Amino acid sequence: MIKSLAVLGSTGSIGTQALEVAQMHSMKIEALTANSRTDILENQIRKFNPKMAAVADEKAAADLKTRVADTSTKVLSGADGVKECASCGAEAVLNSIVGIAGLAPTLAAIEAGSTIALANKETLVTGGRIVIDAAARKGVSILPVDSEHSAIFQSLQGCRDKKQVKRLILTASGGPFFGRRKEELVNVTVEQALKHPNWSMGAKITIDSATMMNKGLELIEAAWLFSMPADKIDILVHRQSVIHSLVEYEDNSVIAQLGVPDMRIPIQYALTYPDRFESPVKQLDLAEFATLTFEKPDYETFSCINLCRRAFEKGGLYPAAVNAANEKANELFRQGKIKFMDISYAVGEALENAESKDDFSLEDVFEIDRKIRFDTERLLK
Ligand code: NAD
Ligand code: MG
Repeated sequence: MIKSLAVLGSTGSIGTQALEVAQMHSMKIEALTANSRTDILENQIRKFNPKMAAVADEKAAADLKTRVADTSTKVLSGADGVKECASCGAEAVLNSIVGIAGLAPTLAAIEAGSTIALANKETLVTGGRIVIDAAARKGVSILPVDSEHSAIFQSLQGCRDKKQVKRLILTASGGPFFGRRKEELVNVTVEQALKHPNWSMGAKITIDSATMMNKGLELIEAAWLFSMPADKIDILVHRQSVIHSLVEYEDNSVIAQLGVPDMRIPIQYALTYPDRFESPVKQLDLAEFATLTFEKPDYETFSCINLCRRAFEKGGLYPAAVNAANEKANELFRQGKIKFMDISYAVGEALENAESKDDFSLEDVFEIDRKIRFDTERLLK
């Protein structure tokens, strides 16, 4: 079990649950970071007494400094402050920042030699090869926190040769709009899109679940994490979110991980791997669920899934491009400035028009991110 931990994005949905798990198992918290919620971060600092804390927003960082002036926690600011916290040298760094803002901190934590507990899927979607290579070079493990990837990781325990894996099957709840056709989604509201049937999560990922962009991002995340080609990763809609994902082996045996939908299980497994400990999560009582259902995704209505698949297959900067279009459009939709179906339209346009190259640097990733955000805003105006 991990003894010392830094939590990046500690004020969010995953971050707060990670601190719950850390407290239950008496892990020492070395560093905490947030974007702007200084009220929550102040409480966390008083409770966990970390060496350092960072707030990405400069103004909010100044506010935090005043709030915790009586404590011994060093307060840092801006993206550099967050990176410094990521480099604090904790045994593990749990990254639950949302969006591409998580990429540089993941790389900083890898360089510092910390084990990575990764919730920030955008790290692998945008950084892909760069992140995997850096981790290999430093001998650092990247352990999944995303529930589907944790399920696959758990179902792979005991597999001695990856060649025996035929297929990964990512389950998807389908989100609040599953079963509806394109025409029926034209006028859906932000409020409707934010009503996820099974999970309570941050706003961005909840909208990603409604468009099913989340499953596209997860497909790319799985391809990198488990070094699998995209055509060996399938998506299965399973409305109850009890089976969190499956691995099919050469002999057609399928191994899956089940549990009630509660992120504290995958969070804890990433921090205690390879061991298991007591958890506050409710036991799974399968008799409570009269039926578990399975369906194929409606790829036409939820076109983001295959746009991501194509982006990964095209390689280069395409995954970063579709991610940037989605981050921008997702934000504009939440602000009430565009319609729901504009999100998948923007992602499709980015895949069509992005200028990619096969050999790219981290700076190229940030550059295409800036460019596609700019283009997406102009396109949707
Ligand atoms: P959230 O919005 O609840 O929390 C995001 C955290 O990131 C907050 O602490 C916020 O302060 C911080 N943050 C935001 N912008 C930042 C910036 N520019 N720089 C530094 N910090 C910033 O989001 P969440 O639901 O906890 O999701 C976090 C990540 O985990 C996402 O990548 C999401 O896809 C992934 N994830 C979440 C869940 C879930 O159940 N919530 C499940 C699987 C994966
Ligand atoms: Mg997931």
